[in-house]
Amino acid sequence: NTTMHSSIILLVILFGLLTQAIVYNSFFSQIRAPRGMSIRDGDIAVSHVRSAITCPGNTCLWPKSVDGFVYVPYILSPLITIETGMQDISAGTCVKFVPRTHEGNFLDIQPRYGCWSFLGQTGGSQTLSLQTPGCMWSGIAAHEFMHALGFVHEQSRSDRDNYVTIIWKNIMPEHVHNFRKQVTNNLNSPYDYNSVMHYGRYAFSEDGGPTIIPKPDPYIPIGQRDGPSAMDLHKINILYNCGW
Ligand SMILES: [Zn+2]
Repeated sequence: NTTMHSSIILLVILFGLLTQAIVYNSFFSQIRAPRGMSIRDGDIAVSHVRSAITCPGNTCLWPKSVDGFVYVPYILSPLITIETGMQDISAGTCVKFVPRTHEGNFLDIQPRYGCWSFLGQTGGSQTLSLQTPGCMWSGIAAHEFMHALGFVHEQSRSDRDNYVTIIWKNIMPEHVHNFRKQVTNNLNSPYDYNSVMHYGRYAFSEDGGPTIIPKPDPYIPIGQRDGPSAMDLHKINILYNCGW
């Protein structure tokens, strides 16, 4: 009976590993191989010079520790992505993101389901979710950080009807609430089509038709996620009285 139990546990572990491998496979297939390398079989990065299997003297293997374990040190590149999102904000404003030591109010950045944040400081520990790999893009991180700083979506501005047309019939019914106007402090700033807080043209589209069309020029690009616009940074500086 114990043998059966352990086989079941083993099976569960194996299944878990397989699922992870599949997730990583689809993740890897989206990225380009680093310079001097190629991606083999979809998810294995191979150096042109040698292969792990024929490496002389096993010098390309991770060393075994005296305690019998093989320790593989790592750093996570998502951390770089998230930190880039922070730096894109802090480089142009007086807002600085610092690792928490003892502060009572702080952002608890976690890979929960989806990319989301609370609006402004909520008090205590507040979750900000950046799922891997879907949210691992510095502009998406900056977008969520701007929510945490107190900014709503640009097309939720109280004056948005002068600048965009919402195509209500194309919106998935359960997401209609995302397109409601809000009473916003627009900080005397012009409407910013280039804001990292602006939805894209097809956000929450039910059948592929556009949900937001800029006006009067319908071809103005919206929904960029490269990083905060100059106006985004300007607005942070005003809201937080940065004096820049
Ligand atoms: Zn958002």
